[in-house]
Amino acid sequence: MIFNFGSINIDYTYRVPYFVRPGETLESGDYNIGLGGKGVNQSLAIARAKGRVSHWGRVSSLDAWVTSELESAGVGVKDVELTPEPSGHAIIQIDALGENAILLFSGANHGFTQEKMTALIAQTAPGDTILIQNECNGLDQLIPLAVSHGCKVIFNPAPMTSKVSSLPLDQCELLFFNRTEAAALLEMPVESSAADLLRRCKESLGDVEVVLTLGSEGAWYQRSSETLFQSALKVKAIDTTAAGDTFVGYFLAARQAGLKPSQCLQRATAAAALAVQKRGAASSIPMAEEVDRLMC
Ligand code: ADP
Repeated sequence: MIFNFGSINIDYTYRVPYFVRPGETLESGDYNIGLGGKGVNQSLAIARAKGRVSHWGRVSSLDAWVTSELESAGVGVKDVELTPEPSGHAIIQIDALGENAILLFSGANHGFTQEKMTALIAQTAPGDTILIQNECNGLDQLIPLAVSHGCKVIFNPAPMTSKVSSLPLDQCELLFFNRTEAAALLEMPVESSAADLLRRCKESLGDVEVVLTLGSEGAWYQRSSETLFQSALKVKAIDTTAAGDTFVGYFLAARQAGLKPSQCLQRATAAAALAVQKRGAASSIPMAEEVDRLMC
């Protein structure tokens, strides 16, 4: 079982002719509610890849539909807490050119207490895997707690913030970065080569496994002296939202099934290539059968 300590966001998306201006009231003729947040996207990706995942999260009791939706997708929801605080949510405007402007409110995602985290970790057994992104509070407490309990921590530090560099990353088992995240964390120019980014990773993080994704260029895996590269599939991308989350979820489900890192990379790459050809976040994450068809 992968325990995913992850955000739950509700995306409220409005199509508008242009972004609303200061002091203006603008009418939108098209509105959509969807499930989002990196945490939820990654839980859904693991479940759609036929992996076993239990989501650790918080959402308003007014949005209990979220837990039903996750559960029917095969995600464990026993530890999704229904809260009196508002849910994490995003107000997304999409203009006539397809550009977006996003207002994000962390809400319940930032309400984890030390007590709650201790209770979550207490139900794990040594050797269990805990997946984390950077959209919930308390990572500085959760990571050491998980490590001291003998859990394997897998961390996708997205979205990248300055607090990530103070976390004990060298105690994680596996880190997922995209190019911007790696460059920011390693304090290197964003145009650095993959070889330079990976070398710096090894210097500062030792033998921690690293997956570096490079959008349409592909992805690298590194552990000690082993380095693997998988090129991306050549497809017409129409929306890359959740490509990284799909990649992480499919990689981890393949790893849980005992596949080798090279096979995990292949499966994650195929799944992410399908995701970029569909609009939306959670709705663009493919089912395992679609990935199987693409790979055979
Ligand atoms: P993030 O979404 O976190 O920024 P990336 O942009 O690196 O992450 O994308 C993650 C993975 O998604 C890539 O390694 C690749 O496999 C796939 N991907 C992203 N963009 C494309 C694209 N234009 N064509 C094909 N695959 C893509």
